[in-house]
Amino acid sequence: MNEIKQVFTYLKEREDWYKEQIRVLQTQCPHENVETKRGANTDNWDYQDFYWVVVKCLDCGMVARYDSKEHREQYRKYC
Ligand SMILES: [Zn+2]
Repeated sequence: MNEIKQVFTYLKEREDWYKEQIRVLQTQCPHENVETKRGANTDNWDYQDFYWVVVKCLDCGMVARYDSKEHREQYRKYC
């Protein structure tokens, strides 16, 4: 194994570990300190308008998109 590959492997293993720690932290966060951005698609020819909100948690970095129909409960919480 050459030196670049060794260093890359070393860093990649730690990156994976840190990403897993962030994922676990995000499951524990109540996501109360958030930025939201609303979106809408209201010009459909068949009147299938829909709405969504993109939520970014400023505490844990979680980013999620909640559709008004599919994720009704989360959508209402943040809109
Ligand atoms: Zn959060």
